[in-house]
Amino acid sequence: QAKTAGRNTLRFFDAAMQAAVTERAVLESDLREALRLQQFVLHYQPQVVGQSQITGAEVLLRWLHPQRGKVSPLDFIPLAEETGLIVPLGYWVLQTACAQLALWALRPETAELGIAVNVSAKQMQQDDFVAQVLALLRDTGAPPQRLKLELTESVLVADVENTIRKMDALKSHGVGFSLDDFGTGYSSLTYLKRLPLDQLKIDQGFIKDILVDPNDAAIARMVIALAESLGLCVMAEGVELEAQRAFLANSGCHAYQGYLMAHPLPIADFEAILGRHGSADKSSAKQGFGAV
Ligand code: C2E
Ligand code: MG
Ligand code: MG
Ligand code: MG
Repeated sequence: QAKTAGRNTLRFFDAAMQAAVTERAVLESDLREALRLQQFVLHYQPQVVGQSQITGAEVLLRWLHPQRGKVSPLDFIPLAEETGLIVPLGYWVLQTACAQLALWALRPETAELGIAVNVSAKQMQQDDFVAQVLALLRDTGAPPQRLKLELTESVLVADVENTIRKMDALKSHGVGFSLDDFGTGYSSLTYLKRLPLDQLKIDQGFIKDILVDPNDAAIARMVIALAESLGLCVMAEGVELEAQRAFLANSGCHAYQGYLMAHPLPIADFEAILGRHGSADKSSAKQGFGAV
């Protein structure tokens, strides 16, 4: 009896596993196809300093799947990383972002805007990563000081020495670096001190309950103080309420990103709100992107 049940359970488990493996294989081949067919698009989420000054945008990847619709990066970035597809995909993101920066540089109303690009650990670990970024900047004509690369702590844990060398090389050309999702990873403060960063981004997980959870409020304040003492800019992500923004402002954080300001938008919609919010002037662009 027990043996039969066990066998049935096993068979059921096998079937579920098999389905998951098949689903994954389908997704993986879809992902390869998607790159070839250019089914990806970038959305632009405003980064704001003070009440409403837009200093630039973070580009967020969207997959327009012919059957599944708009697929969230949370559902395909992990797979793209495992399969190595993140390397060509990440290259496409950088290329598209640089081309946009070059276009913005041509018009006075947009010339001061920056773009933040998420870079995954696998991508950064490529031997020719620095050469690739520099070539893209040169070929597109994008101003390097308007490009900011967002790294997560996983990048740093992987190979600190190598990462620092690459960051230094890009920084010498004016490229900025931000540490994304700060506070959620495992990197020690020792690493933090050694990294040539420009900005810390407080993870949205701490912002969500900042008004009601004293621990989250304490952590946010700590990150702000840490950034200040290390001479780094600080930005809060996932700001949804005016009261959260006000709390952050009172705590010394003046750069924000979140649904309160705007959702990630197609490029045309992003450019349409620029006029309404007023784009960056030199001083505020510095707070959002500058090398402090
Ligand atoms: P992230 O870099 O931390 O980006 C912030 C995420 O928070 C985005 O999710 C954004 O849409 C979302 N968000 C922004 N404001 C709010 C808010 O007020 N409330 C809430 N609840 N969420 C907000 P998204 O676009 O789904 O991207 C998820 C993650 O996928 C990103 O987290 C990033 O780690 C990764 N990702 C996105 N695009 C790329 C890419 O081009 N390359 C790489 N390597 N990773 C990417
Ligand atoms: Mg990011
Ligand atoms: Mg983040
Ligand atoms: Mg995140």
